Amino acid sequence: MNRFDERDTIFSRLELVPGSKQYDSYYTNRPELKDTDDRLRTLSAGVYAHDRSNMARIDSAFRFLKDIRPLAPGPAKAENSSQNAISIKEIEQGLHAAAMDYGAVLYGQAVLGLECFYSVRGRGPAYGKPVNNPHRNALIFAVEMNRGKISHAPRPEEAVEVTRAYVRVAVIGMILSYFLRELGYEARCHMDGESELILPAAAQVAGLGKIGRIGLLLTPDFGPRVRLGAVTTNFPAASFSGSNLNEAHQPADYCARCDLCARRCPGKAIPFKAALETGKVGLQNTTAAKKADTNVAPETKNSPWKIEHKACFAIWKKFGTDCGICVSVCPYGEAQ
Ligand code: SF4
Ligand code: SF4
Repeated sequence: MNRFDERDTIFSRLELVPGSKQYDSYYTNRPELKDTDDRLRTLSAGVYAHDRSNMARIDSAFRFLKDIRPLAPGPAKAENSSQNAISIKEIEQGLHAAAMDYGAVLYGQAVLGLECFYSVRGRGPAYGKPVNNPHRNALIFAVEMNRGKISHAPRPEEAVEVTRAYVRVAVIGMILSYFLRELGYEARCHMDGESELILPAAAQVAGLGKIGRIGLLLTPDFGPRVRLGAVTTNFPAASFSGSNLNEAHQPADYCARCDLCARRCPGKAIPFKAALETGKVGLQNTTAAKKADTNVAPETKNSPWKIEHKACFAIWKKFGTDCGICVSVCPYGEAQ
């Protein structure tokens, strides 16, 4: 099983503090990445850094998310007699209703393969720990990001909307996890910065959409304008949504005819050509291939299109926001 090590993501690498044990250890193993990563680390705050009001909204949302990360895992309530008092179907209905009540627009249940899980954690206190989640049953959900606000990309108003979505989807994950724990089941929330899952891959399995050229999940009704969350659990769900995806929903075909995101990407991070044409066919079980693929976003490792994370992140640093131009221009889901 070929799984992605979260420590190789650009987000993990750029969190490493020069001089720390983790930094020294990582770049001892990956010396070829050190110079370019160090250069990214030292770039200035970005052209929109002066917008203190919006930047404070973004930073405060991420600080809040960081503060609630320790709540993502948690114990099931010891007394579980209520498990027997409510049917599986009723619990499923309750989970779905709760997700929608708290703002989800898409919801699915799936049994995930190990390829949806990172092999090793790369962020926060769990850095370097193997992912050994015993549960394959998962609830996956998405919130919509407002089209008008996303259209401000790459300005900070877009990033405010993205962080608002991260917060909403984390709250949904927490609520569903607490709900299941209340009923005596084990449940773990996967959210920004605290996820054992490659969320777009998991959402694809759950039938919420498919990964497109942009490297993000393209959903039938909202295109890439969603943020994803998930809960893994030992709750024995009886219904799974993976087959519910509309047969007509085929982003690969659509993206093959559309390259708008690639043309508008200021970092040239989105490929015009599919991987088979360029020879990049995803992670292979060789050290050389793994090194070559380090800058590919994990959710695109099995996709025909590989996103160059480093090139994208350099643009984020330049703007001081998460750019988002590709999401704002993508027509998928808008004219279906
Ligand atoms: S902009 Fe076009 S090519 Fe890019 S993800 Fe959207 S539909 Fe696909
Ligand atoms: S966020 Fe910006 S730089 Fe990154 S892939 Fe999208 S358009 Fe390109």
